[in-house]
Amino acid sequence: MRSDVVDVTILGAGPTGLAAAYYVGHRDGTVRIIESLEQIGGQVAATYPEKHVYDVAGHPKILGQKLVDLCVEQGLQYGADVILGEEAKTLDRISQNGEELLAISTAAGNTYCSRTVIVTAGHGAFEPRRLGIDDVDEWLGRGLHYVVREKAQFAGKRCVIVGGGDSALDWTLGLQDIAALPITLVHRRDRFRALESSLNEARRLEGEGAVRILTPHEVREVHGDGSIQAVSIENTATGETEHVECDALITLLGFVSHLGAIADWGLELEGKRQIRIDPMTCGTTVPGVYAAGDVAGYPGKITLISVGFGEAAIAANNAIASIRGEKVQPKYSTD
Ligand SMILES: Cc1cc2nc3c(=O)[nH]c(=O)nc-3n(C[C@H](O)[C@H](O)[C@H](O)COP(=O)(O)OP(=O)(O)OC[C@H]3O[C@@H](n4cnc5c(N)ncnc54)[C@H](O)[C@@H]3O)c2cc1C
Repeated sequence: MRSDVVDVTILGAGPTGLAAAYYVGHRDGTVRIIESLEQIGGQVAATYPEKHVYDVAGHPKILGQKLVDLCVEQGLQYGADVILGEEAKTLDRISQNGEELLAISTAAGNTYCSRTVIVTAGHGAFEPRRLGIDDVDEWLGRGLHYVVREKAQFAGKRCVIVGGGDSALDWTLGLQDIAALPITLVHRRDRFRALESSLNEARRLEGEGAVRILTPHEVREVHGDGSIQAVSIENTATGETEHVECDALITLLGFVSHLGAIADWGLELEGKRQIRIDPMTCGTTVPGVYAAGDVAGYPGKITLISVGFGEAAIAANNAIASIRGEKVQPKYSTD
């Protein structure tokens, strides 16, 4: 158990969690953010970082990742403790040094204590969508990758990239200057979902022998001794299977989410995927626990970034007021 107790634990580092972190910091509260992914930015960073968003007030047109970067700059300016790659599993009420606290334990085996909790978990914890191969995760760290963190990892490597969206195309192009060529791009359908310009560039590189595009194909088996050495790829139109030697298998198939353990925390739910809140306070049915953003539900709720921002302000100000026994009132940020 971590000994440092903070005022507010924020569960989920999407735009709402980052906005809540800002408001708690602005009120001189201490914050810890717990995020199941290794990256910040929630759905925006995970599913549409390269797309423009037009309906966030004050930003007539902004790239998803740029919006996340600005939310990070604003939300973390007061020094929030950010824990990445840990999924919150349990919520308990404990007593420590005469103070009643909320204790969140994560899948990594850590326990974090705070006076209040704001759940900003969106649609639940994200995890990468996996290939339909038994025990495929055993290859993680041994040649299988669900994200490209550092290009240098792929220097001189024979890469097979799986996926039909922007990430798969972006990295097929983005690793050209570092990986061994050709890079093999595998997609189960003939049609890609990625930007036409990226696909056109990949087709041009295919003509030069720098990319192999295999569609409609699926990776069926991974082979190796200690680390990945080859994959079997099936042409699903003909049923023929090809043995492709490779050092890195990069599967960029998007993310799936699930409310998971949060649904068992005794919080009253709104439908199956949201936590019921009182929109006046963003309080849940469990004292000290607030919710905001996509995960928070009430009749008429609209799940939009700007709605999450508004609820983040309400939840954070109510959490701070409850800790200090104060009346809830806005504190302007202007100086
Ligand atoms: C393709 C697409 C386009 C969109 N376009 C727009 C648009 O144009 N305008 C707009 O306003 N909205 C848009 N949205 C919706 C918008 O992205 C969401 O409303 C917004 O991301 C919600 O933010 P959030 O912080 O509440 O949740 P999320 O962004 O979902 O973030 C929640 C975070 O919590 C983490 N988490 C969940 N459970 C746990 C757990 N147990 N432990 C630790 N971490 C956990 C998740 O991993 C995730 O990172 C779009 C959504 C999609 C999918």
